[in-house]
Amino acid sequence: MSHPTSPFQFVVSDLRRRPGERRVERLSAPVDWGVELSRLDPSSPLEADLLLEGASGGVYVTGTVRAVAVHTCHRCTTTWREPVEVDLAEMLEDGEDADYPLGGDVADLEPAVRDTVVLALPLVPTCRDDCMGLCATCGADLNTGACPGHDDESSSPFAGLRELLEP
Ligand SMILES: [Zn+2]
Ligand SMILES: [Zn+2]
Repeated sequence: MSHPTSPFQFVVSDLRRRPGERRVERLSAPVDWGVELSRLDPSSPLEADLLLEGASGGVYVTGTVRAVAVHTCHRCTTTWREPVEVDLAEMLEDGEDADYPLGGDVADLEPAVRDTVVLALPLVPTCRDDCMGLCATCGADLNTGACPGHDDESSSPFAGLRELLEP
């Protein structure tokens, strides 16, 4: 019999023997999953309250996953932390064709939990609806008024190019 080697793994031999049998599990683990501009904060462990239920041909897992995400605004690059809470409902099944294969008596919940959480993260986080982003000329955050304005075209990197092009 194999043994769990990660906080996401649970022995489910009892549930597999008796479909309908249920067990409550809780897991806590630091992770840094995410997509480019939204990632989970590894210093705030992901936590999940789960219900594992024996089913014919596998184990059904439901529950709630909580973590803290760090988002980066795609316009102004400000970062901020935000709690994430998602519901999970996935089946771990026998067979290699299963979305979440269950091999033997140990269920590895990491792929199912990771997919559920990452799908809930925004692909293009925006710090606020009216974020004005960064100035294309000087890079200043336009939300703070730090850009002095650029009426004088000679300060533009394209000014010299224009002189060359003009007859
Ligand atoms: Zn922003
Ligand atoms: Zn500027």
